[in-house]
Amino acid sequence: MGLAIGMPELLSMLSAELDNLPDERKQGNNTKYTVEEAMKSAFSVFFMQSPSFLDHQRLMKSHKGRDNANSLFGIESIPCDNQIRTLLDPVPASTVFGVFRSVYGGLSKTGTLSSYRCFQGEFLLTLDGTEYFSSKKIHCSHCCHRTHKNGSTTYFHAAVTPVLVAPGRPQVIGLEPEFITPQDGHDLPRLRKCCCQALDCCPSPLPTRPARNFTGRRSLL
Ligand SMILES: [Zn+2]
Repeated sequence: MGLAIGMPELLSMLSAELDNLPDERKQGNNTKYTVEEAMKSAFSVFFMQSPSFLDHQRLMKSHKGRDNANSLFGIESIPCDNQIRTLLDPVPASTVFGVFRSVYGGLSKTGTLSSYRCFQGEFLLTLDGTEYFSSKKIHCSHCCHRTHKNGSTTYFHAAVTPVLVAPGRPQVIGLEPEFITPQDGHDLPRLRKCCCQALDCCPSPLPTRPARNFTGRRSLL
């Protein structure tokens, strides 16, 4: 059994969130590409499951890639990776978090969600911590950092990503990620805090049984 949301529905959910995206560019700057095009281009990287942004750019520059960009994602002109970064850097990721809720709501309405009840009639929610940026030179005020024994420092961005899974189901349902910020403290306590925040943001109906590790919070088991 597949998911009951097709590509057209998914794209229209994304497009609905992209209306009125903030555009930080000053009037008169090169505005060849819209923020929406940049956002859809970034989305297409993940949808096409390209191993890297560069690989994806190569693919999109091919004839087939241009066709896909237009027919699948409705992108008229494809911005390059630097243009995408410039356009999207000022846009908070939470701007498009509504898509997670729309997909979840859609799956709930069609009954697909209930087929994920697999653990004594409840959902199985996995929490994965992931780093998605790392540098010894470039950093910003949102960066976490770790200091190495040799005195050098690595700066990184990290997030906790909650995902609904079910045995035998190859598809998983991603929920809103919780970004780990420097203010969250360090290591395990920080991760625990972010896990709790991620669980708090999960939409209902999700399990509410008290958890061993996250007392008083919504639980994963
Ligand atoms: Zn940073």
